[in-house]
Amino acid sequence: MILMLQKNTPEPAIRQLLAQLSLQNVKGGCVAGDNAILLPLVGETWRLDPSALQALPFVMEARRLTPAYRLAGRTAHPENTVVTVGDVSVGADFCLIAGPCAVESAYQMDTLSRAVKDAGAQLLRGGVFKPRTSPYTFQGMGEPGVDLLVQAGRNAGLPTVTEISDASQMELLSGVDVWQVGTRNMQNFTLLKALGQVRKPILLKRGAAATVEELLLAAEYILSGGNEQVILCERGIRSGLTAARAALDVSSIPVLKRLTHLPVIVDPSHAAGRADLVEPLALAAVAAGADGLLVEVHDRPATALSDGAQALTPAQLTQLAEKTARLRAALA
Ligand code: PEP
Ligand code: MN
Repeated sequence: MILMLQKNTPEPAIRQLLAQLSLQNVKGGCVAGDNAILLPLVGETWRLDPSALQALPFVMEARRLTPAYRLAGRTAHPENTVVTVGDVSVGADFCLIAGPCAVESAYQMDTLSRAVKDAGAQLLRGGVFKPRTSPYTFQGMGEPGVDLLVQAGRNAGLPTVTEISDASQMELLSGVDVWQVGTRNMQNFTLLKALGQVRKPILLKRGAAATVEELLLAAEYILSGGNEQVILCERGIRSGLTAARAALDVSSIPVLKRLTHLPVIVDPSHAAGRADLVEPLALAAVAAGADGLLVEVHDRPATALSDGAQALTPAQLTQLAEKTARLRAALA
């Protein structure tokens, strides 16, 4: 980080500022120029808040040279992180996660788990605690749905993914292989801190109104607790202008791949909101370098209890998986 001070800053004020910074394990030099005094800072600068520093007397500007997400960033960790889930190496091998928005019945999970396995998916998803915009819509099966998901995954030989919306669900969801943090909870810092204490892969979705930096700082909460198994997921952001449910931020994929070593997957389903847009968005994500896809599927989309409009049929998922493989081969 670098601080730019007014050229007339008195020496005692500089000394006091540096002494204050040293309490946060930051040390600095001092270079006097004709128009300003520069203080280059080194040490634990990720603890500093540039806007707070800028509010101090004599400070004209505080600029970060290294990101505040020091654990999620590539600077301190250049090689890709690979998150291992069963036989699946997310971040090394391309990964397709598929399943219904919500677990609805044993029959549905049995049908869909086989179908997504046949289509080539490596992980089975299904929500049991559904964060819905309206309290009057289906909220998920809750506890009875957990066994249906785990059992279906076991029968099909697929590890499972479900959303955790509160730390109190940890014990109940302990048999599920990956815990998803939904877009609405990306900045639920109490939940993120609790997830930092477990040793379980976390699929962290980008908040619908969050910047890439905020996503990385949310991941930092989990990493700084000691849990290194974090998968990031772009799922569309709010623009108010798109014809789809959300605007899939395709540019975030190469940007994240450059800034962080964590795997980056894409959920085209929640960005699309409509089944016909899922395939083009998924292919755009693959072309942009996504490490995997998370896709909602339903055996009878018209009867789905949540997100039926965006659900692919198993046949459509198979077609998407085939096109994805062809696109990846063409780009290799
Ligand atoms: C989901 O994956 O089921 C979900 C609710 O996604 P999001 O949090 O991205 O809306
Ligand atoms: Mn959904």
